[in-house]
Amino acid sequence: MPVLVMKFGGTSVANLDRIRRAAKRVGVEVAKGYDVIVIVSAMSGKTNELVGWVDEISPLYDAREYDAVVSSGENVTAGLMALTLQEMDIPARSWQGWQVPVMTTDTHAAARIEDIPPANIMAKFGEGMRVAVVAGFQGIGQDGRITTLGRGGSDTTAVAFAAAFDAERCDIYTDVDGVYTTDPRITAKARKLDKIAFEEMLELASLGAKVLQTRSVELAMRYKVKLRVLSSFEEQSDEAGTLVCDEEEIMESNVVSGVAYSRDEAKMTLLSVADRPGIASTIFGCLSEAGVNVDMIVQNISEEGRTDMTFSLPIDQVKRAEAALTEIKGKALNYAELITDPGVSKVSVVGIGMRSQSGVAAKMFKVLSDEGINIKVITTSEIKISVLIDRKYMELAVQALHDAFELEKAA
Ligand code: ADP
Ligand code: ASP
Ligand code: MG
Repeated sequence: MPVLVMKFGGTSVANLDRIRRAAKRVGVEVAKGYDVIVIVSAMSGKTNELVGWVDEISPLYDAREYDAVVSSGENVTAGLMALTLQEMDIPARSWQGWQVPVMTTDTHAAARIEDIPPANIMAKFGEGMRVAVVAGFQGIGQDGRITTLGRGGSDTTAVAFAAAFDAERCDIYTDVDGVYTTDPRITAKARKLDKIAFEEMLELASLGAKVLQTRSVELAMRYKVKLRVLSSFEEQSDEAGTLVCDEEEIMESNVVSGVAYSRDEAKMTLLSVADRPGIASTIFGCLSEAGVNVDMIVQNISEEGRTDMTFSLPIDQVKRAEAALTEIKGKALNYAELITDPGVSKVSVVGIGMRSQSGVAAKMFKVLSDEGINIKVITTSEIKISVLIDRKYMELAVQALHDAFELEKAA
């Protein structure tokens, strides 16, 4: 029988009523003749609570134990979903990541899926099981311990299963009815897109649009998974939601197709480091070893052989970065001072149309300047421009850019 993957995010399984509603959706697909793999997230708020407990006990936690704790939310929803389906007389069984097994790297808290052998679940489908409910976000590392895939990782579990089982489609059920031109919570003018190109979705996701985890889009692109985002709160047709697809399948699109933001960023500056070969390598090598994901980087013009190095990072990695850079101060690296600005956000405009049209950056900077918003760091790629600004202007910047690029109107 054809296989369908259906993923339900945290708000879609937030309580027993919602689990029942999601199970009904699954029942509709089972009735159509699909064998279904359901990927569940933890109930909304649960993972945050678990992460909070870990942080409180151990700010520079051992990532293996972090994974042991934060993976647990998904175990609960997987079992509850299987029970709900059984109550509906649908043969269902829950699976934790290690049982499948979802084999991952050992990079705890940010593991990558390496392989999902389908044999165990396929054997159960062969015996009459109609739904395999799999705990998202988790797997088993080569070290034999439970791993997690990074926040939002259930999306990646879902796409990886769709690829491994050659599923007809991977449906991501969430609390919005598709991918929008920007987060609909920031502006009511955000417009739902019927289709979005993989590459644009990849940029939007990696720049903060949390509707899909970046890695899930990468996998869908690589393995040609038919990926759809839709609401778990509305009755759905087969055309509902947003299809993430190849560029060629999209007839018309705006130069800028979306605005993304990442609210909780921090900026760190190392004052007065030597301006000589090897310094950047020392700084960023040390941060990488500490598990810090550096994003934007700027190096000032040097004066008398000394320079300042500024970079941005997610705010929850500041403690780690400070500890690592303090550790090497006066040893591998000399610097005068480390300054942290925890109050910044990143706002980005994305569009494949930028490849062929110039002037987008100039327009973006003009819009921000008209709003009196100071730009602290800029980075660009072929299809995106990102700026770091004070967090208090983040919403304003997103709204102003959405207006200026007329994203409420279709091309
Ligand atoms: P889930 O718990 O289902 O995984 P998430 O909270 O991870 O859901 O992702 C859905 C949320 O992503 C939406 O509620 C919305 O606020 C946010 N979001 C950010 N950018 C976008 C966008 N461009 N389109 C749709 N939703 C977006
Ligand atoms: N529960 C995990 C998180 O909140 C994974 C997910 O929901 O995708 O990040
Ligand atoms: Mg999510």
